[in-house]
Amino acid sequence: MALLYMADPARGEVWRRLIGEMAPDIDVRIWPNIGNPADIRWVAVWDVHVDLTATFPNLEVIFSTGAGVDHLDFSRIPARIPVVRMVEPGIVEGMVEYVTMAVLALHRDLPTYIDQQKKHVWAQHYETPAAQRRVGIMGLGSLGQASLAGLAPFGFPLAGWSRSPRAIPNVETFAGEAGLGAFLARTDILVCLLPLTAETRGILDARLFARMPAGARIVNAGRGGHVVADDLVAALDAGTLSGAVLDVTEPEPLPPEHPFWSHPRILLTPHVASLTRPETAVISLLENLRRHAAGEPMIGLVDRSRGY
Ligand code: NDP
Repeated sequence: MALLYMADPARGEVWRRLIGEMAPDIDVRIWPNIGNPADIRWVAVWDVHVDLTATFPNLEVIFSTGAGVDHLDFSRIPARIPVVRMVEPGIVEGMVEYVTMAVLALHRDLPTYIDQQKKHVWAQHYETPAAQRRVGIMGLGSLGQASLAGLAPFGFPLAGWSRSPRAIPNVETFAGEAGLGAFLARTDILVCLLPLTAETRGILDARLFARMPAGARIVNAGRGGHVVADDLVAALDAGTLSGAVLDVTEPEPLPPEHPFWSHPRILLTPHVASLTRPETAVISLLENLRRHAAGEPMIGLVDRSRGY
C-alpha cells in the first residue's frame, strides 16, 4: 500500500521522513519514482503530471497538498474517488499573518511610501484611523474566519461575504449575489480568500471595483484567476482603486513583462501567503487515512457540486 507524493520533490523527502516516523507501514514514493503503479492507493498532489485515475488502477483517495483543488480536473476523476483538500493548522497560521500584514500595509499606505523611497521623496500623508477603515473578507471558510479573528484587535469595522449565510460575532456578514453590493459598498480594504471555481473566476473585475468606495484597496491571497489583470491595472491607474497586495497571479510564475511587476500601487509576493507545513500536514493526512479506513468522513472532503 503506497502513497505517491506528486509535488516539490525536496518537500516530498520531508513528508517521507515524517510519515516514516509516524506511520512506518506506509510506503511513500515521490514522483517520478512511482514503482509499480498498481501499488499506489493514495496520491498527495500539487503538480499533476499524469491522468491520475488512468495511471493508478487502485487509487482510493486524491489528497491535494494545498488548501485549494483548482489544479485538479474533476472531469477526469470518477465520482467514486474522493478528493480531499489540505486542512491543517500551519496553513491557517501563515494566512492570518499574511492577511494581517497586507491589510496593515494598505491601511498605512505602504505602496505610497515604498514609491516615495524609490524617488527619494520625504512626504507625510494623513492617516485614516482603523475605526474608519472598513475591512471585508470574501470567503468565510477556515482561512477567512481565522483572518477576521486576527484583524479584530486592530479595531477595523469587519465584514465578510460567503455563498451561504454565516453568523460570526462582531462581523457584519453578507451572502450570495444578493448581499454582494452592500458588502462591497461598505468595504475600503477587500481581501479575497475564495476558492477558484467556475463561479468565482474573474470575480475581481472592473464591475466589482466600481461597486466599492472610490480609492478602495484590495488583497488577493485566493488564486490569480480571481483577478481580471487588465481591469485591476486600469482601476489602479484611474484611481478607482488606490492599492493592491497580490500573492497569487495567473500565470505563475508571473512573466517578466507583466505590468504587475512594476506598478507603483501593487505589492507582489510569489504565492507564499501560506505554504503547507509538512509537520502539521502529515498529521492531518494520517488522520484522514485513518478515517478513510474506518469509513468515517475525511476532513476537507471536497463537494464536487460546489467545486470546493
Ligand atoms: P473553505 O472551503 O474553508 O472556504 C471557502 C469560502 O469561500 C466559504 O466561506 C465559501 O462559502 C466561500 N465561497 C465559495 N464559493 C463562493 C461563491 N461563489 N460566492 C461566495 N462565497 C463563496 O476554503 P479555505 O478558507 O480553506 O481556503 C480558501 C482559498 O484560499 C483556497 O481555496 C485557496 O484558493 C486559497 N489559499 C491560498 C493560499 C496562498 O498561499 N495564497 C494558501 C491556502 C489557500 P460557504 O461558507 O457558503 O461555503
